[in-house]
Amino acid sequence: MSNTSLVENLKKFFGFNTFKGNQEAVIKSLLEGNDTFVIMPTGGGKSLCYQLPALMSEGTAIIVSPLIALMKNQVDSMRGFSTENGVAHVLNSSLTKKEIQQVKDDITAGITKMLYVAPESLTKDENIEFLKTVKISFYAIDEAHCISEWGHDFRPEYRNLRSIMNKIGKRPIIALTATATPKVQSDIQKNLGMENAAVFKSSFNRENLYYEIRPKVNTEKEIIKFIKNNPGKSGIIYCMSRKKVEELAQTLQVNGIKALPYHAGLDSNTRAKHQDAFLMEEVDVIVATIAFGMGIDKPDVRFVIHYDMPKSLESYYQETGRAGRDGGEGNCIAFYAYQDLEKMEKLMAGKPVAELEIGKQLIAETIAYAETSGCRRRYLLKYFGEEFPEEKCSNMCDNCRNPKEKFDAQEDVKLVLET
Ligand code: ADP
Ligand code: MG
Ligand code: ZN
Repeated sequence: MSNTSLVENLKKFFGFNTFKGNQEAVIKSLLEGNDTFVIMPTGGGKSLCYQLPALMSEGTAIIVSPLIALMKNQVDSMRGFSTENGVAHVLNSSLTKKEIQQVKDDITAGITKMLYVAPESLTKDENIEFLKTVKISFYAIDEAHCISEWGHDFRPEYRNLRSIMNKIGKRPIIALTATATPKVQSDIQKNLGMENAAVFKSSFNRENLYYEIRPKVNTEKEIIKFIKNNPGKSGIIYCMSRKKVEELAQTLQVNGIKALPYHAGLDSNTRAKHQDAFLMEEVDVIVATIAFGMGIDKPDVRFVIHYDMPKSLESYYQETGRAGRDGGEGNCIAFYAYQDLEKMEKLMAGKPVAELEIGKQLIAETIAYAETSGCRRRYLLKYFGEEFPEEKCSNMCDNCRNPKEKFDAQEDVKLVLET
């Protein structure tokens, strides 16, 4: 297949003129029949890496994705690009018998190019039996870090995927994740049996993001001051607990800031309403637990504030990554208190030993990041296995902008990363 036809197809199906980053190389690799592993930051354009080849291939691509909301989103957007409603379907337990029949008919008729399934649905015998009869172009495993206990969103069902795919029939696999730590990567490759995959890893540097850690004192006041100094800008504030989310949202409202809470304890109507109000810019600020953000694609979030430090650097990177997706300003401010993380560690007591050990290690790395006096960007990228020269930070972190006394910060970094 020549390059021009790939670009032409990109235009034809999606209306984009050029590929982003590694997309073209990734798609070529998959279309050549290789197992392909894509590590690309959030917003990098991973979906297109399987959507375009699915549209160009004979048969149906099976796309495994962890969240029904995410799948629905993608199916809707694919239908928007196509004249054929059946081009993409979701197969899950919420469908009626009639709907399931429609999905199966469309697949058998060769209309359906993409079938989205949650891993739970894929385990079901009846689905496996049906899929055995289907011509499958390839398997796409999105959010592949769900396979690894070292990832930020471990889902045990993901561990069965390899054996299920063997049952249905071997085809090329494309696995995709925004999780860049070497540990998670090797877990994914081992578990999916794709040690020989072609690996495409993009840089995780987000040059437009400014990283800052502040000591956790007068936090409410500091947050209000920051927001008032940035009028009209959109931002997300993450808190650990629902209670804190509610409290802080109220405090902000009382102070004349347009803010709404978002957490899993709110009913789904309220959640949807608050999310929409944020997306439509009826409010500037959403105060949320980590329940908010997966799959949210608001390009002009100008700040992400962590009222509490997250439980791993992985989460920190994902959450701060929701700022400045359009390449514009993105301020990432986290309020750090050692006691918070100590408390978090205590809350893990009673968990299985392996999980506990992993959790502790992740927290230790977060503490080291918060306490380093070296370049935060360099530290963060090092954690993801990427060498990054401090000079290239261009004063886009607090420590580069206002260097503290350097008491061998480099040594600190090394020690923590090596233990
Ligand atoms: P990821 O899954 O890596 O977080 P997405 O697949 O959700 O990223 O894509 C992020 C955004 O980039 C989407 O709005 C998508 O339409 C857009 N996008 C993807 N590829 C291209 C491209 N080649 N040109 C322009 N926009 C693109
Ligand atoms: Mg994605
Ligand atoms: Zn720096």
